[in-house]
Amino acid sequence: MTQNIDREREAQAVALPSARGALDDLRSRVRGPVLVACDPGFDEATRLWNGAVDKAPAIVVQPVGADDVAHAVVFARDHGLAVAVRGGGHNVAGTALADGGMTIDLGAWRDVVVDPAARTVTAQAGCRLGDVDRAAQEHGLATPLGFFSEVGLAGLTLGGGLGYLTRRFGWTVDNLLEVEIVTADGRVLHAGADERPDLFWAMRGAGANLGVVTSFTLRVHPVGPTVLGGLIAWPFERAAEILPAYRELTATAPRELAVWMNLLRAPAAPFVPEAWQGERICAMAVCYSGDLRRAEDALAPLRALGAPVFDLLHEQPYVQVQSYLDATEPKGRHYYWKTEYLAGLDDELLSTWRDLGAQCPIPDAQLGLLHIGGALNDRAGDDGVVGNRDARYVIGVIGGWEPHAPGCEGFPGWVRAAWERIRPFSTGGNYINFQSADESEDRIAASYGANLGRLRAIKREYDPGNVFRSNRNVTP
Ligand SMILES: Cc1cc2nc3c(=O)[nH]c(=O)nc-3n(C[C@H](O)[C@H](O)[C@H](O)COP(=O)(O)OP(=O)(O)OC[C@H]3O[C@@H](n4cnc5c(N)ncnc54)[C@H](O)[C@@H]3O)c2cc1C
Repeated sequence: MTQNIDREREAQAVALPSARGALDDLRSRVRGPVLVACDPGFDEATRLWNGAVDKAPAIVVQPVGADDVAHAVVFARDHGLAVAVRGGGHNVAGTALADGGMTIDLGAWRDVVVDPAARTVTAQAGCRLGDVDRAAQEHGLATPLGFFSEVGLAGLTLGGGLGYLTRRFGWTVDNLLEVEIVTADGRVLHAGADERPDLFWAMRGAGANLGVVTSFTLRVHPVGPTVLGGLIAWPFERAAEILPAYRELTATAPRELAVWMNLLRAPAAPFVPEAWQGERICAMAVCYSGDLRRAEDALAPLRALGAPVFDLLHEQPYVQVQSYLDATEPKGRHYYWKTEYLAGLDDELLSTWRDLGAQCPIPDAQLGLLHIGGALNDRAGDDGVVGNRDARYVIGVIGGWEPHAPGCEGFPGWVRAAWERIRPFSTGGNYINFQSADESEDRIAASYGANLGRLRAIKREYDPGNVFRSNRNVTP
């Protein structure tokens, strides 16, 4: 069976850019492996976090430097191949691969340089979030990044980026200072606020559409290295009380406090009392990143709820808080998500959410509400293509299941039906990085809102042939 698939893929790869000659030419220009289906390393390079993704690129290039990336891009453009880039390989839509296309795999590019005096970090494009957090925290510094340490810095940043520090410092791209990028014509360019400001504006939320970024320079801020964080949970039966309490808490919480509320079934983890494993709970993932002397005051409304199923909130390293959810969404499961931005949490939304939490048939699903309101709302709507400056929460149905879980054929349908019920409460926007593969062009347009027209004009200038189309694509 595997052999048949290998043979099919080899045939496809070799047939592609009419052949061996072209591939040999590419191999002679690029330092680093150029892989086709039967080569060692190809399968590993094309296995993504979302096990539901089933795509077969024709070629994987693992370049050594920016000039190699440029040769690969020009080759792909000249042979009509879509270029996808693999950073951390965590995009739920599987856009690091294009069927029959070229994947430029930067996964091994993981160097990070911190300049504590200038308060900047420069990271290569294959860095995982944990690489950057760990290096910056050696100096007590951090920039807003997501809270799963194996996610790629590149994909996250190029789509906007959010995490526990977003309330204080905005989207990740509000902290982006400069990128080095290879564009569709094979140029290696720099873009920042003072250099190619139009390109830089579009990089801040739609970057995967514009080229291959080889490095990112970001502003970092004093954070930690110790914060108050962890998990706390209550029985789902108390949802009618816990959900409004979450609304009250987030309405007045200082920006140093970020809380993610989840309705889910308790995992079979050692910290969950045995009787609660597999039972429905209301859980909160918490990070207080300010002055620790004020942390307990900020958390008082949570503590006041009393009688948790478990309470793991304590002082701990920021890097630990940034990775303690890693195990909850393991590589290889099948995932399907639907999310929206919200400006607030009204009663009707909360009771809809509670109903969905009670009905959800997917054992490993999470119904998440993430409070992000704060610094991102301080800027104008056209400050970067990322937009969505009216968003104060992300709401999402995060479906995940083992490949052959009983009833799994119906799970994507349930996620979609649940999403239909929360859509009426949306700002109209949604986070491009959380889009599943089947989202329509309208949903992509909704992500960029009023910024779409300017984005399209910049796309026309830098990628008129749409070489970079393996992403949430904005056509030129
Ligand atoms: C478990 C999990 C948790 C997450 N948590 C968060 C979170 O807390 N906050 C948040 O904001 N997001 C979060 N995300 C979403 C995440 O930001 C996106 O999935 C993102 O696309 C992942 O980036 P990646 O580099 O791992 O992805 P990849 O799949 O490698 O790439 C994603 C896309 O970016 C393009 N790309 C990758 N590298 C480059 C590059 N160097 N130049 C140009 N284009 C490139 C690819 O072509 C592809 O289209 C999470 C995702 C997962 C799976």
